[in-house]
Amino acid sequence: MTLRIYNTLTKQIEDFRPIDDKCVTMYSCGPTVYDFVHIGNLRTFMMADFLRRTLLFLGYEVKHIKNITDVGHLTQDDIDAGEDKMLKAAKREHKTPQDIARFYEEAFKKDEEKLHILPAYKFTRATEYIDEMIKLIEKLIAKGYAYETNGSVYYDINKFDKYGQLSGNALENLKIGARLEANPDKKNPYDLALWLKSGEEHLMKWQSPWSVGYPGWHIECSAMSIANLGETLDFHTGGEDNIFPHHENEIAQSEGATGKKFVNYWVHARFLLVDGEKMSKSKGNFYTLKDIEEKGFDPLVYRYLCLTAHFQSQMNFTWQSLKDSQNALKKLYAFAGSVDSKEEGSGIEKYIEKFQAALEDNLNTPLAIATVWEMIKDRSMSDRDRKTTLLKFDEVLGLGLSDIEPSLLKTETGEFELNGGNIKFSITRSSTEDTISEDLLDLVKERETARQAKDFATSDRLRNELKKRGYEIKDTAEGIEITEIE
Ligand code: AMP
Ligand code: ZN
Repeated sequence: MTLRIYNTLTKQIEDFRPIDDKCVTMYSCGPTVYDFVHIGNLRTFMMADFLRRTLLFLGYEVKHIKNITDVGHLTQDDIDAGEDKMLKAAKREHKTPQDIARFYEEAFKKDEEKLHILPAYKFTRATEYIDEMIKLIEKLIAKGYAYETNGSVYYDINKFDKYGQLSGNALENLKIGARLEANPDKKNPYDLALWLKSGEEHLMKWQSPWSVGYPGWHIECSAMSIANLGETLDFHTGGEDNIFPHHENEIAQSEGATGKKFVNYWVHARFLLVDGEKMSKSKGNFYTLKDIEEKGFDPLVYRYLCLTAHFQSQMNFTWQSLKDSQNALKKLYAFAGSVDSKEEGSGIEKYIEKFQAALEDNLNTPLAIATVWEMIKDRSMSDRDRKTTLLKFDEVLGLGLSDIEPSLLKTETGEFELNGGNIKFSITRSSTEDTISEDLLDLVKERETARQAKDFATSDRLRNELKKRGYEIKDTAEGIEITEIE
């Protein structure tokens, strides 16, 4: 078997054939660091993490680069429409643009850490690659793709025949759809800005052969991926809104400069929605990870939720869906916590194969999650083997199952009297219900009575009865341990 993945470039699910058998190269467009990222952005970054962990699971090494856009000037092509977000944030917070960028970069990395997103091999800051960008632009000018006017440099899109291959936005459509204001410096209104001469108001600017100015947004990613991963890479990821114009322009720039195919597999995550609309900063309908935490959810609950939706479907965010994920995750934690991790079992092949096949089938994480539950519920397998298998799965799931978060589980202790002695017990369960049910305690007592009377047939029957109700029971030197498993 091999990984099959939907490639936005060919609009087909294709077999993955790496450039190098051992080490896969991957580039993910990172955040513009002028504010906290929202959980829609984080869905996209998690999708790249699922892909990366799947590749690791399949035995590849992965060299993963993620950029930090700390040049805030241009998030749109056109200088007039482009809002200087970094500068705006700097004014809002009375800080320099650089302080703003560093602060939100750190906040972003913390969010990623909380979600168990593996850190990139390198987080490349756009401001540290200005030289590479300038060199790339020089190449484009030398090859006739780009031209300079009044200190700014533009890419003449008419010169690149394959423009539109990723997004289907053929040049004709672009011309008709262009609502861009005429810019006298451009040959065509849709030409894309590579370098812009800076006005007085810009605080972040650099010397270049054309002017003191700053780079366009798209050239950042072309320069940083080529500098770190070479002229052709295996994977490039982003959200669906990156397809056009950002990634289309990256292809034009990179392939124009190198003459080589830029990316073999383009993978895009669909949007996270709220009430059926794209979650976005500009609409104000967004939540950050902090909002989720403030409502009492562990960030990993959100990770679980994202695993339950396929990356090619838009996902509607609701608090109820987060609650459902919390319950499911608690059960996984309860199961993992109920089996002594010092005891090493063996992985259950048939489930590992099924789990792997789900991921290899276009990164079908919902099916992989279904397989997790099928395996956990298979009581014909020993606890130890099921736990070992679960921990193997967690290499991709990244839910921290080998390192249980106690915040999600509540352990209560108590004792009851039996035959003149006190029996201690502890119950570990999800804290959704407030009281321990009397029924449950009665069963535990009955079983203990039978056990003390050496009536093992009855005590086994009662143990099974408890299991049916979703509790595992264990006798230890400290007393009886009862753990909720589902
Ligand atoms: P930005 O900082 O706006 O460039 O966004 C960072 C990443 O998040 C990009 O890859 C976007 O495509 C992605 N993104 C933005 N909004 C959403 C959303 N609502 N759902 C999923 N991904 C998103
Ligand atoms: Zn990018």
